[in-house]
Amino acid sequence: MQCDFEFFRQRLLDEITRLDISMREAQGAMATVVLDQTSVGRIARMDALQQQAMAKALHERMQVSHRRLRAALNRINAETFGICCQCDDELDSQQLNKDPAAVFCLACIAEKSIPGRGQFGY
Ligand SMILES: [Zn+2]
Repeated sequence: MQCDFEFFRQRLLDEITRLDISMREAQGAMATVVLDQTSVGRIARMDALQQQAMAKALHERMQVSHRRLRAALNRINAETFGICCQCDDELDSQQLNKDPAAVFCLACIAEKSIPGRGQFGY
């Protein structure tokens, strides 16, 4: 398979841009909860803290995705994009279409020799 680097570069850049916007939104939700003891009841305060924690967790997940996408861009620049990081085989084009940031081929993922990895190289 000959990889269409430009196609994937554009897709990765688009996803990074989208992620940047979502991360800014999450950042707003993560901002310190202002506690006005006179007007905000205890339940509302707990609710606000919980939402803040959820926004923080979401933001952390997005940071991981952001790193993966940037790493994929680096692989395009280094012309190693689309090649399995473990066995040097070419990645399946369908796999890359689903997840352009994938780093391991399906065979290596199936081997489960890669610790802490879910579908498509997470
Ligand atoms: Zn492999």
